[in-house]
Amino acid sequence: MSKYEVIIIGGGPAGLAAGLYTSRAGLKSLLLERGMFGGQMVNAALVENYPGFPQGISGGELGSLMHQQALSYGLDTITAEATAITGIQPLSVSTSEDTFEASSAIIAAGSKYRKLEVPGEESLSGHGVSYCATCDGFFFRGKEVAVIGGSDTALSDALELSRHVNKVYVVHRRDQLRAGKVLQQKAFDQPKVEFIWNSVVDGILGEELVTGVRLRDTKTGKLTALNVAGVFVAIGSTPNSQWLSGIVEIDDAGYVVTDQAMTTSTEGIFAAGDIRRNSPRQIAAAVGDGATAAISAFKYLQATG
Ligand code: NAP
Repeated sequence: MSKYEVIIIGGGPAGLAAGLYTSRAGLKSLLLERGMFGGQMVNAALVENYPGFPQGISGGELGSLMHQQALSYGLDTITAEATAITGIQPLSVSTSEDTFEASSAIIAAGSKYRKLEVPGEESLSGHGVSYCATCDGFFFRGKEVAVIGGSDTALSDALELSRHVNKVYVVHRRDQLRAGKVLQQKAFDQPKVEFIWNSVVDGILGEELVTGVRLRDTKTGKLTALNVAGVFVAIGSTPNSQWLSGIVEIDDAGYVVTDQAMTTSTEGIFAAGDIRRNSPRQIAAAVGDGATAAISAFKYLQATG
């Protein structure tokens, strides 16, 4: 069984920052990622609020740069999904590939897209229903699409889609946006973007491909059909913490409870990024969490020697 001083679970900005710090501190470190290195940010066409890139940078490129930087200091990375952690000093980390021993662990497993959970969503997923405008926008060139949600992801998606499609309807359940003011102004200024307020999706229409959405007005209850070829769901995310039940304390919403040093309820296990309670869910914040968790793991290993 391979033995590490730190195992990091998750290769988004929090995990990659943690890996950079633990490797540079000379700790034998392994990072597990089940999908793409960079995590959810690889879906962002343009990241404009991560310091150091005044012209913005694509999420994919930023993820790749963070990965390269951590590798250059000796971090081991593998593609595998963690399924359980047991024991204390050493911890035993079970994964889809192998079982590893570690003196400490940093959980940075992030979150996944929230689903609408309406009829048609599951069956038409990949056939007009998408959760990634950057990945799929190109397939809808010249068409009309709907984006569901009223926060930063929804408006970034609408702006990205407006480069390809003829029209983007942004369907929001209230009449006020949660998104930041800069994005709001950009969306209001984009003539291809039209807002449909106080409306939720009641169902996604179509047999083999999406042909429209059925909307319900939240004030009147009235149902209407909107003809669109694509539906981009951008209603936030839920933490990837199901597998952590009984391993660390998790709150009612599924977020891992930590203190300011990113310490969890279980000795030797730290958490960072979107998965932890009260995370502001920003790339910059995730990087800060990852660095903090790495420093805490280093101190823990020194103290327990
Ligand atoms: P979010 O901030 O959690 O917003 C989710 C949006 O979906 C809200 O507008 C919410 O409506 C709506 N919503 C939630 N459940 C819904 C449902 N069942 N039906 C219809 N609408 C529903 O998610 P996010 O936009 O993915 O952003 C996540 C975090 O990443 C945020 O902190 C955000 O600031 C950050 N982010 C930043 C940028 C950037 O460029 N700065 C880009 C992307 C993401 P209500 O408003 O009514 O609650």
